[in-house]
Amino acid sequence: MSTSHHPRTRAVHAGIRRSQYGELAEALFLTQGFAYDSAGQAEARFQQSGPDEFIYARYGNPTSRMFEDRMAALEGTEDAFATASGMAAVNGALMAMVRPGDRVVAARQLFGSCLYVLDILRRFGVEVVLLNGTDLAAWDQAVTPGTRAVFFESVSNPVLEVMDIAGIAEIAHAAGATVVVDNVFVTPVFSRAVDLGADVVIYSTTKHVDGGGRCLGGVICGTRSFVREVAEPYLKHTGAAISPFNAWLMLNGLATMDLRVRAMADSAARIADTLHGAGVRTIYPGLPDHPQHDLAARQIGSGGTMIAFDMGSKDAAFRVLDRLQLISLSNNLGDAKSIATHPATTTHQRLSEADRALAGITPGMVRLSVGLEHPDDLVADLMQAIG
Ligand SMILES: *Cc1c(COP(=O)(O)O)cnc(C)c1O
Repeated sequence: MSTSHHPRTRAVHAGIRRSQYGELAEALFLTQGFAYDSAGQAEARFQQSGPDEFIYARYGNPTSRMFEDRMAALEGTEDAFATASGMAAVNGALMAMVRPGDRVVAARQLFGSCLYVLDILRRFGVEVVLLNGTDLAAWDQAVTPGTRAVFFESVSNPVLEVMDIAGIAEIAHAAGATVVVDNVFVTPVFSRAVDLGADVVIYSTTKHVDGGGRCLGGVICGTRSFVREVAEPYLKHTGAAISPFNAWLMLNGLATMDLRVRAMADSAARIADTLHGAGVRTIYPGLPDHPQHDLAARQIGSGGTMIAFDMGSKDAAFRVLDRLQLISLSNNLGDAKSIATHPATTTHQRLSEADRALAGITPGMVRLSVGLEHPDDLVADLMQAIG
C-alpha cells in the first residue's frame, strides 16, 4: 500500500493480508494459537518473531496485525500495537517506558482514567508533574533535562482546550523527552500529530474508529523500535492485546471513518454556531471566540466532532438533558448516535470540586458528541430542549 495514496484510500486498503483463499474482505482469524509443521519450526518461530511469525494471540494475530498496520499507515508511523482498550494503550505506553526516578510531565487537563494511570506511576517512584497544558511557559519550566516523557491530550476532554503539539514537542525534544499524545478527540482523520513532533500517538479506538459504539479497543502508534522493543514486551506479557474480533470490527470501522468523522464535524460546526447564536456559552474549537481557535485551525483544520456548552447551573443542564428526545444520554463519544453527557456528575464525578473548577468543568456544562443523524434533527432537538 503506497503512502502516496490519500488517507481515505489507505483506510480502506492498507495492511490487508490475504490467506491462500484470496478473500476480498479482511478475514477474521479467531484463533488463539498457530500450528507448526514440526518441532523445529516451533523452535524457530519462538526464536525470531518477524511480522508473520505468529505464535499466540496475546503476542499477535493476523487480524489484529492488519488493524495495526492500517492504523500505522493512517497515522504516518512505522508501526503500531493494538490494545484491548484506550486505557490499556495509555497505561502500556507509559509503563513500558518509565523506570523509578524518571520524570514525566503531563497536562492537568486529562481524562480521569489517564490521571489515575499517572498516580500508578507515582506509586512506583516516577516523579509526575502536572501543569496547565495550554501554557507553553509552564512546559518550558517543568520539562527539565532528562525528563523521560511528556503526556497530554491534544484536545482535552471535556473542555476542548487545544494543546500546541509543535510547541510542546520542541521543548520536550530539547530535553530528550518522548512526546506521547492522546489524540482521541482529534481522530486519525484530522491528525497531524507526527508531523508536528509527536513521537507516540495513542487512540482509544472505542470512539471514532469503531464509530458504532460496539467494541473497546486502543492503539499505540510510533517508531518500530518504540512499538516493538519498548512497548510490545510490556504489552504482550501483561495481556493488553486486542481481541481479534474487536480488531476485525475496527478494520471495518476504519473504512468509513473519514466519511463519518467529516460529516460529524460538519454537523458539530453547525450546531455550535446555532447554540452560540442562541446566546448559549458554547465551547467549540471551530468558533472564533475559542481561546485556541487559531491553533486549532492550523493544527487540526477542523473544529472536530465534540462540543461543550454551559447552561449556567446543574439544574439548568439537567433540565436540558432530560428534555432531549433524539440525542441519547450516555458517557461514550464518537458514536453514530449523538450523545450528551453531564461531566461534573458522571465522567468527572471522581474529581474534587476544586479540581473540577481548575479543569474548567462547570456545574452547568454539557458535553455533546455529535453523531451521524441529520443536522437539522439534532439542531431541532437541542433547541426544543433549551427552550
Ligand atoms: C475514552 C478515552 C480514553 C480511554 O479509552 P477506553 O477505550 O475507554 O479505555 C482515553 N483518553 C481519552 C481522551 C478518551 O476519550
